[in-house]
Amino acid sequence: MAEYSAYHRRSVEQPQEFWAEKAALIDWHRPFDRVLDAGRKPFAAWFPGGLTNLCHNAVDRHLATRGAQPALVWESTEVDRSRSYSYAELHQEVQRMAAILLRHGVGQGDRVLIYMPMIPEAVFAMLACVRIGAIHSVVFGGFAALSLATRIDDATPKMVISSDAGSRAGRVVPYKPLLDEAIERATHKPGHVLMVDRGLQPFTPLPGRDLDYAAERAAVGDREVPCAWVEATHPSYILYTSGTTGRPKGVQRDTGGYAVALATSMRDIFCGSPGGTYFCTSDIGWVVGHSYIVYGPLIHGMTTVLYEGTPVRPDAGILWRLAEKHRAQVMFSSPTAVRVLKRFDTAFMRERDLSSLERLFLAGEPLDEPTASWIAEALGKPVVDNYWQTETGWPILGIPAGVQALEPKPGSPGVAMPGYKVGILDELSGEPVPPGQKGVLAIEWPLPPGCMQTVWGDDKRFVDTYWSTFATRQVYSTFDWGVADERGYVTILGRTDDVINVAGHRLGTREIEESISSHAAVAEVAVVGAADELKGQQAVAFVVPRDATRAASAEARAELAAQIMQTVQAQLGAVARPARVLFVSMLPKTRSGKLLRRSIQALCEQRAPGDLTTLEDPTALEQIRGALVSQP
Ligand code: ATP
Ligand code: MG
Repeated sequence: MAEYSAYHRRSVEQPQEFWAEKAALIDWHRPFDRVLDAGRKPFAAWFPGGLTNLCHNAVDRHLATRGAQPALVWESTEVDRSRSYSYAELHQEVQRMAAILLRHGVGQGDRVLIYMPMIPEAVFAMLACVRIGAIHSVVFGGFAALSLATRIDDATPKMVISSDAGSRAGRVVPYKPLLDEAIERATHKPGHVLMVDRGLQPFTPLPGRDLDYAAERAAVGDREVPCAWVEATHPSYILYTSGTTGRPKGVQRDTGGYAVALATSMRDIFCGSPGGTYFCTSDIGWVVGHSYIVYGPLIHGMTTVLYEGTPVRPDAGILWRLAEKHRAQVMFSSPTAVRVLKRFDTAFMRERDLSSLERLFLAGEPLDEPTASWIAEALGKPVVDNYWQTETGWPILGIPAGVQALEPKPGSPGVAMPGYKVGILDELSGEPVPPGQKGVLAIEWPLPPGCMQTVWGDDKRFVDTYWSTFATRQVYSTFDWGVADERGYVTILGRTDDVINVAGHRLGTREIEESISSHAAVAEVAVVGAADELKGQQAVAFVVPRDATRAASAEARAELAAQIMQTVQAQLGAVARPARVLFVSMLPKTRSGKLLRRSIQALCEQRAPGDLTTLEDPTALEQIRGALVSQP
């Protein structure tokens, strides 16, 4: 591991030199005075004094060499359309959008809330904002009115950019009524709502407030809008964490550090080639979409694919057909998406010519070994897990194949990425624990470039939430459990609030889930701890079988449940054996595909499931409720 070790050591021991070098990967209008301003710990200001612009780095600087290369390719299986924009065309569309913003008084530092489906105009809007120094806040399209209202009040946008509707699995999801209701509920009122009318759902514009994008676009014509040079520390965007565990936090990101971090990651982690195609199946509403649909690939001069649709419609081969069609070099998806595909035939992948594809990256949730090897085998390509958070904006753990092609370790996302001084700390003392021992995954100050600057509008919450876990030392807590081995590979054992205490034994839900997933009949599983009078807590498992007939009768369920319990007992011991194994056909997840364990746990304990605004499909919770009652 010599090359990687030297690289990583330098990144954390000589961060100034390391990041000064990486800063050369992007364009600066004025060089920075210093690499890092350490004057306000635990805050970190990267590249102070430097002037740059994200849109310039993502679009304008490529015009001379890549003007005709496709920059943005849009594919929609929802409305059966596709479109491609070259860098020159993207430049033009972004300027038009920027001209519309300027025309209606949006300026540097103003917030613009983007509530959009996965259409090219959403990308134009993001790039247009950063072009003029406005701060975007993308809210996942179709989010409930209440979630949207709290985000409007938190970011106080001058303008909202939206659309008549999105579409999900072939059904139109009207956005306008949700948006109108959200603005109605919110205390803050945006001055204008710019509506991109897709013709999916008729609506009545509100005179004086609502603007029509097509008319505005025609009115601004081909006006040139130069990039506004902003301080490297100028906020580029606010993005709320997905809200799996509580009140959403507005993660505030800078400009210069973010561009440098993404450029670094594109080379050292994702190994993309300028001119190649990057296909990330996430949504622009999530951090993965911000970093690896929009900014990362474009900064790196790649072609990025924006996909509106699901992985299984019209059939389970769609992602691979698109990868073949656009000759994707790098793909990025989530374990959830792969687990959905696992229920289908691998012929969907084998039939495609994926010779251009080098690696499939997966992030967002623990990647269990069976799922990883299933997809790796079906594709015949390396599958690379990577671990990060909305807060960090780019991977904390992974395999830096661009530096050294380290062997991946099953069940582990990998080793620390550059600039991250990762520690596994004892939850009480805050002292580092030896390899092989479980602890809280923490990061020492400073967080590297690209990570959150603060909680939007609430510096105190930033310090209190992230930097105050341990009395003895001020470190950033990820709130995830981890265990490192001698070589520095870290395995994530779940969130610190997802620990089950069975008769004094503390067990990570992740460990039990991993064990259950190793049973061949299991497609997906969620394990929660439910209060138990005798043992404190007991583990309850909700299993989605790969083949529904395995849970079709009481006898079949009892048989499979017994096998699953036996599997866990054999692998982890009797304490970890779930007290109940119940069967459902889907699990409750957030719209970003994360298990809503706290709601499942609440139902197990006969409590109210809590805030459900981020829940993807309410019937999944009904199934949990039903299983608890009908299955012994
Ligand atoms: P909130 O913080 O509001 O509860 P969230 O944590 O679900 O929401 P994200 O920032 O999208 O929001 O998710 C980051 C978390 O996802 C990580 O802290 C970790 O728990 C989990 N995660 C992400 N990638 C991986 C991975 N590769 N392996 C294991 N867990 C992962
Ligand atoms: Mg989180």
